[in-house]
Amino acid sequence: MKEQLAAEMERLRRLWRILQLEKRDHCQDRVVLGGLERLLARLRDELSSGELGPLAEELFAKAEGYGQLTPPERRKVILELEDLLRGVGATTAVTVTTTATVAAGAGESQPQPPSGAFPKAGDLQAPVRYAKGVGTQREKLLAKLGIRTIEDLLLYFPRRIEDRSRIKRIASLRHGERATIRGLIRAVDVIRPRGDLEILKVAVQDSTGIAYAVFFNQPWLRKQLRPGERIALWGEVERTWGEIQLASPVWEPADENFLTGRLVPIYPLTEGLTQPMLMRLIRENLALYQDQIEELLPEEVRERHGLLPRREAFFKIHFPQSMEEFERARTTLAFEELFLFQIGVALERRRTRAQQGNILEIDDDLLEGFIAGLPFELTGAQRRAVEEIRQDLAAPRPMNRLLQGEVGSGKTVVALIACLIAHASGYQAALMAPTEILAQQHYHVIGELVRRAGWPLRVGLLIGSLPEREKAALRRLIAQGELDLVIGTHALIQDEVRFRRLGLAVIDEQHRFGVIQRAQLERKGKNVDILVMSATPIPRTVTLTLYGQFDISILDELPRPRRIKTYWVAEERREEVYAIVRKRLAAGEQAYIVYPLVEESEELELRAATQMFEELSRGPLRGFRLGLLHGRMGEREKRRVMEQLRARELDALVATTIIEVGIDVPDASVMVIEHAERFGLAQLHQLRGRIGRAGQEAVCFAIASPKTEEAKRRLAAFRDLDDGFRIAEEDLLIRGPGELMGLAQHGLDTTFKAADLLRDLELMKRAREEAFRLIEEDPEHPLVGEFKRRFGERFELARF
Ligand code: ADP
Ligand code: MG
Repeated sequence: MKEQLAAEMERLRRLWRILQLEKRDHCQDRVVLGGLERLLARLRDELSSGELGPLAEELFAKAEGYGQLTPPERRKVILELEDLLRGVGATTAVTVTTTATVAAGAGESQPQPPSGAFPKAGDLQAPVRYAKGVGTQREKLLAKLGIRTIEDLLLYFPRRIEDRSRIKRIASLRHGERATIRGLIRAVDVIRPRGDLEILKVAVQDSTGIAYAVFFNQPWLRKQLRPGERIALWGEVERTWGEIQLASPVWEPADENFLTGRLVPIYPLTEGLTQPMLMRLIRENLALYQDQIEELLPEEVRERHGLLPRREAFFKIHFPQSMEEFERARTTLAFEELFLFQIGVALERRRTRAQQGNILEIDDDLLEGFIAGLPFELTGAQRRAVEEIRQDLAAPRPMNRLLQGEVGSGKTVVALIACLIAHASGYQAALMAPTEILAQQHYHVIGELVRRAGWPLRVGLLIGSLPEREKAALRRLIAQGELDLVIGTHALIQDEVRFRRLGLAVIDEQHRFGVIQRAQLERKGKNVDILVMSATPIPRTVTLTLYGQFDISILDELPRPRRIKTYWVAEERREEVYAIVRKRLAAGEQAYIVYPLVEESEELELRAATQMFEELSRGPLRGFRLGLLHGRMGEREKRRVMEQLRARELDALVATTIIEVGIDVPDASVMVIEHAERFGLAQLHQLRGRIGRAGQEAVCFAIASPKTEEAKRRLAAFRDLDDGFRIAEEDLLIRGPGELMGLAQHGLDTTFKAADLLRDLELMKRAREEAFRLIEEDPEHPLVGEFKRRFGERFELARF
């Protein structure tokens, strides 16, 4: 089919663009969620039946094991992949607009000027090699920093500003402080304590005393630093043996005032480029190109938010006179980029809003009857979410809602009520979970609720591990409309699965799926309403970026507040921990013992898991009924173990991280996390969410003797904080945004240059509001072009 082929080619072109991005990102395998290999596996599966099947197979074969390679090796793979794509002509990248509207044939997004053709003078879009002070050598170095055009250079904002403005008298210098001094070079000594070490000791005098600047192995400085010259120095002061020293200080001629005596921008660097080099490049080109920096935001927006004129902001973010100036410039440029990004979000939202939707309604009595049949009262947060979802479903456009709530906040029942509403209007619903265990558990819990409440909902479970015959039977029931709610895994989106009338798709743990799977499920019906659920606590700014086009309901209230005491215990005291565990197990409680396992190889992991299990059953937990759960077990086996735990046939479960997601055994109340320093903070918190689920008093021991400050901070935060969102924010502070829950995979750590995803929530909200207003008034506003230019495919990658 021609149409299908065109669609598949488009996928390959998209792949091409992703490869370009990956190269630009130095082959770190983080530009696609889940990694390149997984993307190609998916592509292979999805294209297997078509004409491009063999090619997709070959692409996948080349990319196998990609994640394990070093960046240079990955680069080779990319080149090979590119060759294959070139072979079918899937190279003319097209400009990505929003996810749905892809304009064909608009040319490369990063055009290489044809050789000989010079870009017109003063063009900010020109390659950076046309910038003043940049030759081929520097061009390469700048590329490593992601700087390709002159505009990129001007947009390369300092990470922070260092205040070197205070000039101190030498006599008043205190040990440990950082300061600028100015003085006359009195003497220069060369000392050679060892053959491979040359120390240059420069005596600098001002009217109050003498300080020594010390440089190591920089023989060329001897020519530059001569007695009688006046210089300025900036560095950390050491007072030892009555001498004042500055080791490897920044220095310059006393009247230069460029690197000292003022506020100095600090840029992220790469080897071969220094701070002064970048500062000079940026200063000179800023001066040269300033006329090209035109106002971008609508005048009234700029005024409403008290932003600086754009050109002024560019100067002041790089070369501020005061911290206030810097902050104001940063705010201005952060607002600008958030605003542009949210234009994309607004367009996407507008597109979904414009779609025709089904009207799914239920009358009050029926709904209240359902809710009254629950074995518990809904929390206020759950009620609000139900009401929001109900209104969405009743509206004549498809719902696009994110239900966000910590583990245990009660998302399942909210989703179930949504399914009931769909059913009441004669539609089927589907609930997709990332693993069989989770699907199984939903089936179990929902089945139980439905039975007890006597709701007329026919529920089925469709997972890959069922015998083919059973699956076929289920598919028949689904197609005939004999099932009202189908719970399942990826098995739900297979081609053979056809719904009679799918009205609502719920996706649990959305971050484990991609946009593609969501779209596949969506296509199983007409104008399907979508509810995605996530327990990943991410700061709100990040939510507004990743999930910007969704409406959001938040469950910020736990039905049964957790009562978990968390202890951080040093390795040496492990015995004491197990003594407590034994006591609690003897009293009839249930425990998880968690080990971090790195998947170096399947076999190793299997062996390690089994070995731990045996050690525990022979040693500290002898006499108790232990189960083992690890990543190398088959789905069925895992399920059996979980069932045993739930049925109290086991006292404790020795497990690797796979219990992380959504497992619900309400009775478990003890957790021991071994080598806790190896887990991230968010992960630790998710793990802890497995215990005390019935609201009983529970205890969690994190066993760790961490070496790094970061790990110590993490464990202290884990011990002291229990709110998921606070934890997410702390995590962000400790690790930086790139590390947080796959943000780097979305490129979010580099998408924004001035905005700070942790601090800029207020700014983000305001920028978002303005962008939405702009698109509402004029969806073809010229700034849409600016948005595309600035973010391009980055935008797509940064979304769910
Ligand atoms: P989540 O999926 O958000 O992690 P679940 O939906 O699995 O949480 O709910 C966690 C537990 O809380 C389940 O055992 C569920 O039955 C129970 N629960 C949900 N809502 C309430 C409520 N309003 N009152 C008491 N228990 C509730
Ligand atoms: Mg859940």
